[in-house]
Amino acid sequence: AQERYASIRDAEAVSKCGQRVHLLMNAGLMADLPSLEGSGAEGVGLFRTELQFLIRNQMPRRSELSALYARVLDSAGGRRVVFRTLDIGSDKVLSYMKANDEPNPALGWRAIRVGLDKPGVMRMQLQALIRAANGRPLTVMFPFVAQYDEYRQARAEMDKAMERERILGHPLPETLEIGAMLETPSLAFAPTKFFEEVDFLSIGGNDLKQFFFAADRENERVRRRYDTLNVSFLSFLQGIVARCNTTGTSLSFCGEDAGRPIEAICFAALGLRTLSMRPASIGPVKSLLMRTDLGALRRVIEDARERGEQSVRPAVMDFLRQQG
Ligand code: PEP
Ligand code: MG
Repeated sequence: AQERYASIRDAEAVSKCGQRVHLLMNAGLMADLPSLEGSGAEGVGLFRTELQFLIRNQMPRRSELSALYARVLDSAGGRRVVFRTLDIGSDKVLSYMKANDEPNPALGWRAIRVGLDKPGVMRMQLQALIRAANGRPLTVMFPFVAQYDEYRQARAEMDKAMERERILGHPLPETLEIGAMLETPSLAFAPTKFFEEVDFLSIGGNDLKQFFFAADRENERVRRRYDTLNVSFLSFLQGIVARCNTTGTSLSFCGEDAGRPIEAICFAALGLRTLSMRPASIGPVKSLLMRTDLGALRRVIEDARERGEQSVRPAVMDFLRQQG
């Protein structure tokens, strides 16, 4: 199998029915970057910046971060890198930032909520990113946005950071894209204006699924209870795809499920055309995608839903067995 994946490493990810799908990788440490070449990823669809904060015992300095982000962009060699701003809280606690003692950390003070309430760190990070880009294109994504206004406020911080850097005489990014992660069900129902304004959306399936089913992703007893291919969840994803198609919003999926070949082809069949995953999953996902007729798979999914099945997985497995 490894050899088969190596042989398709540089092939475009195109389904059997001719649909192009973009496969990107998730990363967070410098050590991940060599995988860009090795895996055949088209870019980094999710760079988890909090890992750099989690491996230290004190707050990194702006100059350190800026140097690091510049190296990430250098290693990517012009391929797109989506930098996600600090996503801490819940399961990711920094020893040097006041430990939060919350009854429900997953529903608590985390990610963009921390960034907006205590903007010092976010400002420093945005400045470091602009300096790292040093005139190159820059893509930034805010985690855990639950409502339009949080995106607007975060974007205003970015505007301010750009203005400061301009006044200081630093080169500004050639292009700047500012996206949001869709990981709370609320954001799927945000006003149309939000979908028009955001430069792109990326579904954080790990969190989105935990909140959709109200099942803690960290709790072994419940985390596997609900299938990602459950018809309710797939219908929900389909609704997001439809809204994004209406407004022309670019949409990707970057949770762990994007790296599971069967889930990945189902997402692609529902119209998700950009998937970001751990590097080792790119080969297996691409291989199955190349053998799959997405139109036929979509009909299989829709028929299973019509029949009132709970999960489309058995029907999809049958389809794949027939497909060979
Ligand atoms: C997600 O929630 O799906 C995601 C990609 O972010 P994280 O796993 O880092 O919360
Ligand atoms: Mg998340």
